[in-house]
Amino acid sequence: MKEQDSYSNSERVRTPVGRFAPTPSGELHAGNVLCALLAYLSVKSRGGKFLIRIEDLDSVRCPTCSAQKILDVLGAFGLESDETPLWQSERSCVYRAKEELLRRKGLVYPCFCTRAQLHAAEAPRLDDGGVVYSGVCRALSKDMAAEKSKTRKPCLRVAVPDMEIKFRDGIAGELTQNLAHECGDFIIRRSDGVYAYQLAVAVDDGESEVTEVVRGADLLSSTPRQMWLMSLFGYTVPEYYHIPLVCDPAGRKLSKSEGDGITRRLAASSPERLLGSLAYAANIIPADEPVSLSELTKDFSWKKVPRTRILLPQSLM
Ligand code: GLU
Repeated sequence: MKEQDSYSNSERVRTPVGRFAPTPSGELHAGNVLCALLAYLSVKSRGGKFLIRIEDLDSVRCPTCSAQKILDVLGAFGLESDETPLWQSERSCVYRAKEELLRRKGLVYPCFCTRAQLHAAEAPRLDDGGVVYSGVCRALSKDMAAEKSKTRKPCLRVAVPDMEIKFRDGIAGELTQNLAHECGDFIIRRSDGVYAYQLAVAVDDGESEVTEVVRGADLLSSTPRQMWLMSLFGYTVPEYYHIPLVCDPAGRKLSKSEGDGITRRLAASSPERLLGSLAYAANIIPADEPVSLSELTKDFSWKKVPRTRILLPQSLM
């Protein structure tokens, strides 16, 4: 039977706590800085707390120097964490405890499927490029799993219920996702032992008592599974604001090199000049003029932020 759930993520009496959670696999681009700025303004305009979390789960892709550079760039704009930033690479013990909790609930199983098996033609696709897992390894007996482990290291998946998750995104509006049909059993630990983003983010947002998550629209489809995990772990589910695609002045998706320009520009331009351009792009101020972070904080409202796409002005190109 299909369960239905609608998590209450609206009524808040807690102090607003926001976060920016970059993956340090490269330089920050204009879209990232804008995301950090909106996350900051949203909580600071209501007397809240802003946190930074370094999502360096994959230590090979995420050198420490890259994370430090990100913190330096954010710092130049005044976007500083109110607490010492969390580094996900140091938090395996916390994630392991939650893996154990899921195991005790009988929800964790090893999966031995190869990439080719996962991407079989009939597998329904997910927005993020993944596929809805068929659940084939869910049926493996303990003995069969032990036998397969001799030749292949499995990843770990969590078995999701046939449940609809409904939520209201502060930008995208009302959304519903059926976990079993539109997401499928998802990976919580990779075969190399690294914990997966979906588990880590649910645990960290919960442990940090984050009340609002501001991030790119590319993560919209990840939200229901994170909400589900958070409620299983007993955390209060935050509010979500998925900011739309950031484009060049002609409305084209930014190429990597154009996006990186913001970091280079910092050397030649003042942070206030660039903040002004970003805030103008997000429709928070009426003209592309220098502005301070404290001025922006005084007059912030999500109502002004565009719903479908954000066009960067020429001054940021
Ligand atoms: N680490 C992710 C990224 O850099 C963001 C994750 C999140 O905000 O939940 O795209």
